[in-house]
Amino acid sequence: MKKAITGFHLDRFQEWNADLECGHTVEMRHNPPYQECKWIGTTKGRQEHIGDTQECIYCDMPELPNNLVLKKTSPCYQAETIPDELVSGYEPAIGEWVNVVVKSGLLQFVIHHEHATGFVLDQHLNGVMVPGVVHRLRPAMGDVEFYLEYFEAKEA
Ligand SMILES: [Zn+2]
Repeated sequence: MKKAITGFHLDRFQEWNADLECGHTVEMRHNPPYQECKWIGTTKGRQEHIGDTQECIYCDMPELPNNLVLKKTSPCYQAETIPDELVSGYEPAIGEWVNVVVKSGLLQFVIHHEHATGFVLDQHLNGVMVPGVVHRLRPAMGDVEFYLEYFEAKEA
């Protein structure tokens, strides 16, 4: 989802981050061809790019509703131990929500709605599985450690 930039700040690694109108932040690193933002290093450059729009992946991820009860937590999986059902596609039952928590490394997470939306999960971005929709997990590169939290919606 495209969101407007409202400001910039340096993170603890001394990399520039853009503050977005939605409250999320995006790392801005001049790293062509993936990201072109040579201007990020100068005050003038940053000033001129306030108001630009940036893709916010955090806004595209579904959010867990508030009325959930934690039913179980999976063991910690690694690249070689991801269960087949998560690789081939897992569809939470109606009323079931799943939170994918990455402890280290990167994990591919694809939501198959009417079209497929892909994410790369890390320690800062959890994957949220919505009831009745197929989701697939795959290691992105290198090793990964993650676990799943299974929730059930409380009756209103
Ligand atoms: Zn956002």
